[in-house]
Amino acid sequence: MARSTDPERRPEWPDGMDVDALLGQGWRPTPFREFILKIHSRCNLACDYCYMYEMADQSWRSQPRRMARPTVDRVAERIAEHARAHGRERVDVVLHGGEPLLVGLDHLRHTVQSLRKACEPDVHVALRMQTNGVLIDSHFLDLFEELGIRVGVSIDGAEADHDRHRTRANGRGTHAEVRAGIQRLNDRDGRLLAGLLTTIDLESDPVTTFEHLLEYDPPGVDFLLPHGNWDEPPPGWSPTEPRYGAWLVSVFDRWYHSTERETNIRMFNEIIRLVLGSPSRTESVGLSPAALVVVETDGSVEQVDSLKSAFEGAASTPLHTFTHTFDDALYLPAVAARQIGARALSPTCADCPLSRVCGGGLYPHRYRGAAASSTRPCTARTCST
Ligand code: SF4
Ligand code: SF4
Repeated sequence: MARSTDPERRPEWPDGMDVDALLGQGWRPTPFREFILKIHSRCNLACDYCYMYEMADQSWRSQPRRMARPTVDRVAERIAEHARAHGRERVDVVLHGGEPLLVGLDHLRHTVQSLRKACEPDVHVALRMQTNGVLIDSHFLDLFEELGIRVGVSIDGAEADHDRHRTRANGRGTHAEVRAGIQRLNDRDGRLLAGLLTTIDLESDPVTTFEHLLEYDPPGVDFLLPHGNWDEPPPGWSPTEPRYGAWLVSVFDRWYHSTERETNIRMFNEIIRLVLGSPSRTESVGLSPAALVVVETDGSVEQVDSLKSAFEGAASTPLHTFTHTFDDALYLPAVAARQIGARALSPTCADCPLSRVCGGGLYPHRYRGAAASSTRPCTARTCST
């Protein structure tokens, strides 16, 4: 799916959004709080739903495999510059990929030391990594402990469910390797595991999946919807039957009615906050401003990487950390569009009584092809919530 390149065609929203007019109306951007660094652009797995390699955007092919040391150093300086300019005493940095552990021990050490050198002592760097877990060994564990890196691992539930999608290139499932990796994290001191990330599969039983995740005693679980959009809906999506909603409701009931709080589920925690009148702490639900930015392995600045599922170039911006500050990114229409709350909603969503909680749905899922494109990305064609 690609958007129109016809020069006669009016720029589609949000590219044509007038940021100066917004500023004139009193809107001010929210500084970035979370920086996702793509330190390696390749992966040792071949998951069939991967938005990096299997969906519309194929820009990984032209990215360097690894973020080079001069690029790492520049990005670290830009993060420190942005934090200081906005009086932030803490930034969250997520080391991401592809598979970030493919960078190796020395490069990982350099990356973290570069970030700390640029930011500290006045800006604390809270470090997380998101990994598929199979490369976690004692050497990486030592480094995680030494450098203060907390680790999130992707696992989709019990073995048969996980292995349906999360495989090696030869089709072999990876559950046993991932399980071993999580257990190694837990064997250290119980604080290295930041949480588990699970992509929903309607073929998996929701309660069995959740209870499998609980076996690892994770401090938190993130459930992700498989990516899709109006042209290419996610597997099993139906316009008349809220199948993903029903799956999540089963997990919610199992989680919420437990006699003790076994773990946190970010999606549910944030929805409860919204229902009770507080803002969400993530841009994926509600209307809170998106305060995260992505840096690709070549140092270019991008929007949230799951947008790569929508169309080729969907996440890209014209900015690069060697030539632009992160403040420059705040004034891009595509970035501002993620920070203006209800003003970014389609007319349908703006009129919806659930919009303050729903936020119009996950942003990368709102797209459709150029031929049928509306002037705003959220079309909520037949919302089944
Ligand atoms: S482990 Fe992550 S980056 Fe690698 S193929 Fe699977 S989903 Fe994609
Ligand atoms: S119409 Fe649907 S997508 Fe839009 S805000 Fe309401 S519930 Fe959300």
